[in-house]
Amino acid sequence: MGKLDGRVVVITGAARGQGEQEARLFAAEGAKVLLGDVLDEQGAAVAKEIAEEAGADRVRYVRLDVSREEDWAAAMAAAKEAFGRVDGLVNNAGILRFNELASTPLEEFRQVVEVNQIGAFLGIRAAAPEIAAAGGGTIVNTSSYTGLTGMAYVGAYAATKAAILGLTRVAALELAAKNIRVNAMCPGAVDTPMANPGLLDPAGMTDEARDAMAELYKRVVPLGRVGRPEEVAKLALFLTGEDSSYITGQPFVVDGGWMAGVSVL
Ligand code: NAD
Repeated sequence: MGKLDGRVVVITGAARGQGEQEARLFAAEGAKVLLGDVLDEQGAAVAKEIAEEAGADRVRYVRLDVSREEDWAAAMAAAKEAFGRVDGLVNNAGILRFNELASTPLEEFRQVVEVNQIGAFLGIRAAAPEIAAAGGGTIVNTSSYTGLTGMAYVGAYAATKAAILGLTRVAALELAAKNIRVNAMCPGAVDTPMANPGLLDPAGMTDEARDAMAELYKRVVPLGRVGRPEEVAKLALFLTGEDSSYITGQPFVVDGGWMAGVSVL
C-alpha cells in the first residue's frame, strides 16, 4: 500500500529538479499526479516515464506558468477532468537570480516575485476551493534556507522565500476549518540545476569548479555534502501524507544541518 493511495496532487515546476522527484515519488506511493511547468518538452518526458512505471491513467503534464491566473484555472480543470478531483498541491516552481540588492534592476526583482511569491499565492487560491470540495487535503509550499536566514546576493529570492512562510501560516489558519493542512519546506543547498548550473551542461563545468563546489559544501554543511532532490521529495511526501496529520502552518528545514550554526570541527 502506498502512502498516497487515492490522492490527486498537482506539482508545479515538475519538469526537473525537486519537482520531478516529488512527482516520481508521489506516483510511486500511489498518487495521481498532475505535473505543471514551463519546460514543456522536459515535463512531458518526465510524465511519460512516470506513466510507463505507474500507468497512463495516473499522470498528466500541462503547461502551467505559475504566475498566470489563467494557467492555474486550466490546470485545475485538467486535473479534475483526468482524475475527478484535486486534494493536494505542491507549490515547488521557483527561480533564483544573483545580484547585490543595491544593483538589482526593478524588473529582475519583480520577475522573482511574480514566479516565487505570486505563483505560490495563485496556487493556494486556485487549489484551496478544489481541495475543500474534495473533503480536505494538503498544500506544501517551497520556501528555502534563505526564507529563515540571510544570504548575500540573493535579496529578491530571499524576500520571496520569507513571504512564502507568511503565506503558509495565514493559509494554514484560514484553511484549517476546511481540513486543509498547509506547510512549508526550507531546503538548504540541493543538487539541482538551480543550485548547480553544471547539471544543465555537465560538459561546461570544469573538474576544478566541481571540486570547488564539493569543497564548499563540505566546509559549510555539517553533514558534509549537498542535498539530493530525492531527500526533499521525502519531506514533501511526509507533509502530503497522513504521517503529518497533526501538523500545519510550519516551516521544515532540510539542509544537512547548515542552519544549526558554524561547525568548528
Ligand atoms: P530547478 O531550477 O531545477 O527547478 C525549478 C523548476 O521550476 C524548473 O523545472 C523550472 O522550469 C520551473 N519553473 C520556473 N519558472 C516557472 C514558472 N513561471 N511556472 C512554472 N514552472 C516554473 O530548481 P529546484 O532546486 O528543483 O527548485 C525547486 C524549488 O526549490 C524552488 O522553489 C527553489 O526556489 C527551491 N529551493 C531550491 C534550493 C536548491 O538549492 N536547489 C534550495 C532551497 C529552495
